[in-house]
Amino acid sequence: MSKAFRNLLKHIGSLPRSKQEQVYQWVKRYVDPSSPVGGRLIDEMRETRFKEGFECPRCASEHVVRFGKYNGRQRYRCKCCGKTFTDTTNTFLYRTRKGNEWIKFVECMFKGFSLRKSAEIVGVTWVTLFYWRHKLLNALKQMDFEQFEGIVEVDETYFLYSEKGKRGITGRKRGGKSKHRGISKEQVCVLVARDRTKTTIAKVTCMGRIVKSQVDKIIGSKLTSENVLVTDAWRAYKTYAKEKGLEHYRLKSDGGTHVIKGIYHIQNVNGLHSRLKQWIDRFKGVATKYLDNYLTWFLFIDSRSNESTKHNIKEFLLSSFVFEMTDTYDSLRLSKFSV
Ligand SMILES: [Zn+2]
Repeated sequence: MSKAFRNLLKHIGSLPRSKQEQVYQWVKRYVDPSSPVGGRLIDEMRETRFKEGFECPRCASEHVVRFGKYNGRQRYRCKCCGKTFTDTTNTFLYRTRKGNEWIKFVECMFKGFSLRKSAEIVGVTWVTLFYWRHKLLNALKQMDFEQFEGIVEVDETYFLYSEKGKRGITGRKRGGKSKHRGISKEQVCVLVARDRTKTTIAKVTCMGRIVKSQVDKIIGSKLTSENVLVTDAWRAYKTYAKEKGLEHYRLKSDGGTHVIKGIYHIQNVNGLHSRLKQWIDRFKGVATKYLDNYLTWFLFIDSRSNESTKHNIKEFLLSSFVFEMTDTYDSLRLSKFSV
């Protein structure tokens, strides 16, 4: 691992998210696709943080000294805030003594294995693996990009609100069919926007039909006056594009025109919607509070289907490790859905 790479990752936590994405792209180029995934990867990931020079993960001070060992790992103490930490503090590997198990689990994630099957392979209970899944995804979810380019297809898709897994809930836990026709307040709106370079956002946006302020919340910061929006006929998009001063093509949803001038359509986003629905079916309903995590997971897999599994595992782990992750089992379990 190069010195430049280590130094880069040392400062990753203090960078704005747009810069973190640049680093992420850098990491992607750096990682050798043909190198084997193994126990060494975990060492490599630890090394990326504190190999040269230390920075307190809590107060960012560089006045850090060695402070004995903890669970066989070097421990450090910050002379400014007095806190101690190890090389995995504030990452998904914090307080876990497993290493290879995480790699095995990520492999199971890429192979689409259920938690029960994964538990047999990894040798960790499936409940633990459920939290590992969401720790990884909470970190990876922070991946970001600068701006969309050119034509941006925008369309929403809906999932029924679900509290799957919550104790004491009877009745519908798994999504299932809505009592109401059309789009109601019990449906969770996921907005998907994708440009023609395949840069994509897919995020939980609101309950029920989308309004223009919600469109702006999800994609506003990613758009410039150079972008051209293509959407269906829903009025929120029309008023939004008008207010933003964006060129806008609207497709009628009554089975009429699906392509305007040969290039303006939303078929890429609609294709993604159907791949997403098909992919997420395997979970037999997901709790709405975790839906953003599953969207992150899906986008990662969907954009890398041509890569080898080994390459994907390494990239997934390195990418997740770069982002701060302070969740505990309890904070995940007790978290609430909000939009
Ligand atoms: Zn400190």
